[in-house]
Amino acid sequence: MSSMSSASELPPFTTKVQLRETHFRDQLNVPENQVVRYHASSGSTGTPTIMAYTQDDLDLLGRLTSYAFKPLQDSVSRWCCYNAFGYGLFTGGLSLEEAARMARRELGLDITVIPASNQPGLSIKEALTQHLRMIDLFQPTVLFCTPSLAYALWEMDGLDTFEALIIGGEASSPALRNLLSNQGGRQVVEIYGLSEIIGPGVGQGCSKGALHLNENAFDIEIIDSELVISTVHNQAMTRQRFLSGDRVRSLSCDCGHPYRAIDVLGRSEDYITALSCYVSQFEQLLIEHGYAACFEIIDNMIRIEPRHAGKLHELPHLALPILVVSPGTLTRAVGKSKRYLQS
Ligand SMILES: [Zn+2]
Repeated sequence: MSSMSSASELPPFTTKVQLRETHFRDQLNVPENQVVRYHASSGSTGTPTIMAYTQDDLDLLGRLTSYAFKPLQDSVSRWCCYNAFGYGLFTGGLSLEEAARMARRELGLDITVIPASNQPGLSIKEALTQHLRMIDLFQPTVLFCTPSLAYALWEMDGLDTFEALIIGGEASSPALRNLLSNQGGRQVVEIYGLSEIIGPGVGQGCSKGALHLNENAFDIEIIDSELVISTVHNQAMTRQRFLSGDRVRSLSCDCGHPYRAIDVLGRSEDYITALSCYVSQFEQLLIEHGYAACFEIIDNMIRIEPRHAGKLHELPHLALPILVVSPGTLTRAVGKSKRYLQS
């Protein structure tokens, strides 16, 4: 696979709004009888965007997503994977299935997948109870899920059977990943993707915890701190130079990985104007000071919780007043979700 096209070879810029405004059949680059699957974005901020895949596109999705398994090859004793990403229109659950399929074939891993999904229709408490019951039954060793769900399970001692976690679907802080890793005793690999580009598989964490972008499959630019991705190999959808809306910064990583490393700060809607920072940055501050990785901003007041067994340190001065509530008061999440409410 080649990449690094010159700017003159890149397609015109595309935004999420343009994708929504164009009927998905008008974006197809192949006859529809070659489309083997459609997915849709979560639509959390409006009309969902539709993504079409040929069989080759699904193979590419699987191959790229399976890169996340490579840092774990020497440490995981058996591959019994509990897949708690949502199955269905959202790309998470089925993309990890594609990754498992490709990893069996190309990496020789004997992967078993438990398609737990994200328990739609249950309350958060019921869903967490159900997850704990299934984890106790299957004794899986690798967990695929969002950082929010991993954190909620961690609080309930639900991660003890896991040797490794593969987390994605929302930005997370280094402090959260360190907490989930049990201070380094369990590997945590971050995966990064965009449903408008391919799904997961745009990038993944390395052994040093940096997120490397798969430049063998995409042309990558960072323009005014926004990540811009041009598809190179996708077949079903018209080639695009997508303005992702994700704010990132370049990192240097000495792990030997050939592709560039970034830190994803979040999408524009993850910016907390009142605190002048992103959700993941505030999460980092809370965890470092002994608080839980969740908070709410209501009526210009920040509600936070002490973390179970966390040693509290005084927080720096913040632009909003703080209300410390009892542990377990704030809403947890079982799927792709923001870990705060802003009003
Ligand atoms: Zn690295």
